[in-house]
Amino acid sequence: MKTALATLFLATIALPAVGQNVKITPLGSHPGELCANDRATVFEDPTGVRLLYDPAHNLVAGDDPRLGDIHVVLLSHMHGDHLGDRRLRAVGAGTCASSERVLTQNSMTSQVIAAKNSVLVTTRAMAGFVANEYQDMAGEPLSVCSQPVAATVPVESACRSSMDIGGVFVAKTAEATQGVEITIVYASHVNNAPPSLLSDAAREALEADGAILEYGPPTGYVVKFTNGLTAYLSGDTGIHSEMKTVVNEFHHANLAVLNLGNNPGIYISGAHAINELVQPASVVITHANEPATEDGVLRPQSRTAALIEQLDPPAYLAISGRTMEFDGQGRCAAGC
Ligand SMILES: [Zn+2]
Repeated sequence: MKTALATLFLATIALPAVGQNVKITPLGSHPGELCANDRATVFEDPTGVRLLYDPAHNLVAGDDPRLGDIHVVLLSHMHGDHLGDRRLRAVGAGTCASSERVLTQNSMTSQVIAAKNSVLVTTRAMAGFVANEYQDMAGEPLSVCSQPVAATVPVESACRSSMDIGGVFVAKTAEATQGVEITIVYASHVNNAPPSLLSDAAREALEADGAILEYGPPTGYVVKFTNGLTAYLSGDTGIHSEMKTVVNEFHHANLAVLNLGNNPGIYISGAHAINELVQPASVVITHANEPATEDGVLRPQSRTAALIEQLDPPAYLAISGRTMEFDGQGRCAAGC
């Protein structure tokens, strides 16, 4: 009896409590699918801190009802499909291959920050662009938070981080003993702003020289949640050596949220990047640039399916509206 009780006790403490999981909910164009334009993802720490990673083209408005509270907005880079130079006309509008989107006057990133009174955590160059838009919309500046690399959330008024690649921002609720640690990491990509969101003068000057306007380096993130889950959010990136030296060997990321897509070549290099460099316990697949599912099931002939076949860790599709729960070891505990 004593042994049985001891075993039961051990089993109880060894099991991760459901309340200790991080909840990950992708918000895409079509509920129940992983569609071509899907990128936006909401993360919820067990302490209640809620983050939106790249508003993208996936929201119908800054106060899209699917968002709920958003304490922190992460912006990986300036491309329209991340910053959000378009909004989704309606949830489910258009096809899974090409959702129906409408150009916006101000980016969806600025609109979410204004609607949700959020903290923007991104590089100083990108924060400068969003701060300008915010000033236009809200009539008041999007100032640096009272501490440049930390905030108690929810904040009283929207604010921005002041840091760059390698910087660490801590977002903590007042009641929690520990905060969520957000590190900006390298991405191998390009970081030009969508022309439709630039001023006429800037757009004309760029056109005259066939140039693009870059806002410093594009980025990814490593987000360390309070349950131990350490998520590498790749951003749009080609394979690069910091996936091993920084993301794996320094941060020990145990979950990778991997952006696919044609330009960075990850359909070709992704298996090596994940299996040999990042080596996470699990992978969440997004940014497929193809309809990866049909009726909620992975299309067997898709490029996404071909990549998943080559991955060593279990890979889960970022199905819109489906909440997945991950424990501190990077294992999916529910919803996958
Ligand atoms: Zn992209």
